[in-house]
Amino acid sequence: MDKIEHIGIAVKSLEKSNLLFEQLLGVPPYKIEEVISESVKTSFFKTGPNKIELLEATDNTSAIAKFIEKKGEGIHHIAFAVKDIVSEITRLKSAGFTVLNEQPKKGADQKLVAFLHPKTTGGVLIELCQDIEEN
Ligand code: ZN
Repeated sequence: MDKIEHIGIAVKSLEKSNLLFEQLLGVPPYKIEEVISESVKTSFFKTGPNKIELLEATDNTSAIAKFIEKKGEGIHHIAFAVKDIVSEITRLKSAGFTVLNEQPKKGADQKLVAFLHPKTTGGVLIELCQDIEEN
């Protein structure tokens, strides 16, 4: 795995939290994107080399809605950049981690993503993400 790509934070209202994080970080989100397949609306902030992703559920079936119901707003996942997501999935599976989606899927911000179950990662949801190359 390479660097931490971003930290994902579950929020109840993207509108309110965008304002809060804009005040906190001193920059507006550089991108707001809905991921229909995940039932989330996301925004991304850059601060120096780091990125923060805010996620709001767009319906009750969303993993973000369930997370907020159980734990409230807060850090939802840590994402690591990987160069080859398929080989990382294979490596992590054979090391005993539970991969939630063995087939990488398209996430926000032009990434292929896969998640590791927090039960096998010390309680932290881990996202792997690989840049999607534009053809
Ligand atoms: Zn993420």
